[in-house]
Amino acid sequence: MIQPSTAMPESGLHGIALRPETQCCVVGGGPAGTVLALLLARRGVRVTLLEMHKDFDREFRGDTIHPSTMEILDQIGLADKLLEIPHTKVSGPTLQFANGVITPFDLGRLKTRFPYILMVPQSRFLEFIAEEAGKYPEFQLVMHANVTQLIEEQGVVRGVQSATPEGTQELRAGLVVGADGRFSHVRRLAGFEPVKTSPPMDVLWFRLPKLPGEPQISSGAFGAIGQGRIFVLLERNDYWQGGFVFPKGMYQELRAQGVEAMRRRISETAPRFAQHAEALTDWSQLTLLSVESSRCPLWHKPGLLVIGDAAHVMSPVGGVGINYAIQDAVVAANVLSEPLKAGRVTDADLAEVQRQREWPTRVIQAFQAFMQTRVIASALQSQQARNIPWQLRLLSRIPVLRDLPPRMIAFGPKRVRLEKESNP
Ligand SMILES: Cc1cc2nc3c(=O)[nH]c(=O)nc-3n(C[C@H](O)[C@H](O)[C@H](O)COP(=O)(O)OP(=O)(O)OC[C@H]3O[C@@H](n4cnc5c(N)ncnc54)[C@H](O)[C@@H]3O)c2cc1C
Repeated sequence: MIQPSTAMPESGLHGIALRPETQCCVVGGGPAGTVLALLLARRGVRVTLLEMHKDFDREFRGDTIHPSTMEILDQIGLADKLLEIPHTKVSGPTLQFANGVITPFDLGRLKTRFPYILMVPQSRFLEFIAEEAGKYPEFQLVMHANVTQLIEEQGVVRGVQSATPEGTQELRAGLVVGADGRFSHVRRLAGFEPVKTSPPMDVLWFRLPKLPGEPQISSGAFGAIGQGRIFVLLERNDYWQGGFVFPKGMYQELRAQGVEAMRRRISETAPRFAQHAEALTDWSQLTLLSVESSRCPLWHKPGLLVIGDAAHVMSPVGGVGINYAIQDAVVAANVLSEPLKAGRVTDADLAEVQRQREWPTRVIQAFQAFMQTRVIASALQSQQARNIPWQLRLLSRIPVLRDLPPRMIAFGPKRVRLEKESNP
């Protein structure tokens, strides 16, 4: 039996009541798991969320909240509350090439109350969602619970075992949802094998300080491209989040060249950040994101469903991983709330979640693959200074084409909404 953890007493995020079983056990307190738990609890489903870490602290796991997620939070009356957390907004990147700058797309043109990507520390976002979920008696959060085994009876998943500070605990559940991320243990235990593609790049993330009195970048994002390098800089309240995109397989070489070489690359490719780059003095200030893209052919078996990164790891192109994980959670809540309450989740219900979410995932992964091979790989291969590619000029001038990338990034190929929701 799982006991509520006392690991987070100061935040009040630990469980409310001791439960031997639950209608839905969600494994993993990332964006997919926390949002699913909140949505199910709101609809009266008893849900237990198990998270292996003792808190929600996340460094460089992505802080992007897309218009789609904002619209969903707005549907349940939480968007304005989220906006009270200190944030910045990104509406479109300004890309610098040798012959000038261009804004290839602009979310500001979208027809939505939230025409921007909200940048909020992921830990604050997850705490916020978990706190809101904690207002429902149906919700229980157990931190420090590392799921190690599935409980299976006659081919049906009936719950999980997890390692906790109190020892091994069992929780029985009508449905187990694996929302435990790109290295999902639940996925492995279920025997699901993701099909992987290998994007041609990796990313190093780092922070640069803001200089006193420096002007804001109007769209919140800046990119510099040339000499086989791509830098991305996202404006945050009191710092810049920097990303250096480089060809896969080059990490050891960069590591050997050290942090001085990284500073030099920044000042050569993005001179306006040369002074900021002086703050990089140690390699440990850089975090590697090994870029991966994969998708499970099957997301479910009797008594079990995987969603979010556990079902599909997204490349960072467009920064859509969090958004897609949350959209999976919304569809799962739409489809499964009633069957969960009735205690009758069928394989057809689980297949319906995969049916609704698999094709948008395929579409965006195809779009990402195109950008990676046609645009990013060629920029990384050319050691010359690069002028603005004609394709980008075309994209930014023809209205039908111009609006497609921001729509894809903001919402994906299909706008996901919470069904049967009346505005609070
Ligand atoms: C360095 C980096 C930068 C990124 N930047 C961006 C970005 O800018 N924008 C964007 O949209 N996406 C970004 N991503 C991707 C994004 O983080 C994921 O797509 C998103 O977090 C997926 O959400 P999720 O809930 O499916 O999984 P996760 O966020 O990975 O959450 C899984 C949770 O499960 C927990 N867990 C794992 N195993 C167990 C277990 N056995 N028992 C209990 N709990 C477990 C983990 O501790 C974790 O909290 C980035 C990823 C990385 C690695």
